[in-house]
Amino acid sequence: MFQINEDYQKLPGSYLFSTIAKKVAAFTQANPDKNIIRLGIGDVTLPLAPAIIKALHAAVDEMGAAETFRGYAPDLGYDFLRKAIVENDYKARNCHIEEDEVFVSDGAKSDSGNIQEIFGPECRIAVCDPVYPVYVDSNVMAGRTGVYNRDTEMWSNVIYMPCTAENNFVPEFPKETPDIIYLCLPNNPTGTTITKSELSEWVEYAKKTGAVIIYDAAYEAYISEDNVAHSIYECEGARECAIEIRSFSKNAGFTGMRLGFTVVPKDLKCNGVSLRDMWARRHGTKFNGAPYIVQRAGEAVYSPEGKAQLKEQVAYYMNNAAAIKEGLSDAGYTVFGGVNAPYIWLKTPDKMTSWEFFDYLLENANVVGTPGSGFGPSGEGYFRLTAFGSYENTAAALERIKKL
Ligand code: PLP
Repeated sequence: MFQINEDYQKLPGSYLFSTIAKKVAAFTQANPDKNIIRLGIGDVTLPLAPAIIKALHAAVDEMGAAETFRGYAPDLGYDFLRKAIVENDYKARNCHIEEDEVFVSDGAKSDSGNIQEIFGPECRIAVCDPVYPVYVDSNVMAGRTGVYNRDTEMWSNVIYMPCTAENNFVPEFPKETPDIIYLCLPNNPTGTTITKSELSEWVEYAKKTGAVIIYDAAYEAYISEDNVAHSIYECEGARECAIEIRSFSKNAGFTGMRLGFTVVPKDLKCNGVSLRDMWARRHGTKFNGAPYIVQRAGEAVYSPEGKAQLKEQVAYYMNNAAAIKEGLSDAGYTVFGGVNAPYIWLKTPDKMTSWEFFDYLLENANVVGTPGSGFGPSGEGYFRLTAFGSYENTAAALERIKKL
């Protein structure tokens, strides 16, 4: 008789967004006349930029003609896209990354969940707390995380690095030595980030301890401050200890299109074995390529028109972020983030728990956000609002919150 992977049974239910949806549905049913504003989920709302639509149309036409039709994409992704990535995301920032170190994928969620496959089962992971849940859950599925404690909401074999107002949301080097360190910067959910020199210290630390850093830079496009690195490869030595994961979701509105990439430098080795070659093997075996049409759309992200149009989109969301930050500060809230990321992380007032504040906001302002505790125990007492709504809705939500 077959057996299941018991490690899946260890996963606690993913209650966060389903609980939010249930609470909102119950509230709407009881109050059908109320207009709810949703600033909870981290999904974009602006339509795709014209340069991207143009590239999509052209690629669709190519697929309809025998001479230009394309079947399976090359394993690593099309040359035209990897070239554009290397030129714009790396060369332009003085980072040495080669085209065959870039692996095009269907997004950062898959890559950040899959990358753990190339590491040994005994590796210990370290994660920031609060954290994007995929890193821990994918390691739970792989049997790396030990036993879950429902009271502390922590895994016995995971090293947690609390990121709170007390340490200015800068993770500290853990007391126990990890093998794999997940860093997401700028950060979801806190909307904060660290400076390039602080990131360089993490690179030093990884090299010293023999750890690898999985660097999730999904929000790189939102960086506004000069002292923040756009890529971990801006830090000396990162080629030997870091894998970088990128997404087209938040910089170009591809959440429904699906495109991302992972960089595994050739200098990253474990006992002489190239991780780049391992990831190439894994990619070739388990992934059959992002669609040609979508890769052409990705190429358009780097065209002069694409860049200009996407800069405006990012500015639109960051204008919302600034409005939320300012509005909440004026209303007496303590707020973080929103400068280099499209998320605002606020301290709940009057010592409310994250969920108490969720209910309070829903009932009294009809605004939906995300309870910080849903991202990890150190998120308790915090709350996340996103800047991805329309400006009108964002402004209306703020007016309501100010009146509370
Ligand atoms: N990484 C982080 C930190 C995210 O917040 C998200 C999406 O919200 C992703 C990855 C997923 O990106 P993608 O849409 O490319 O799968």
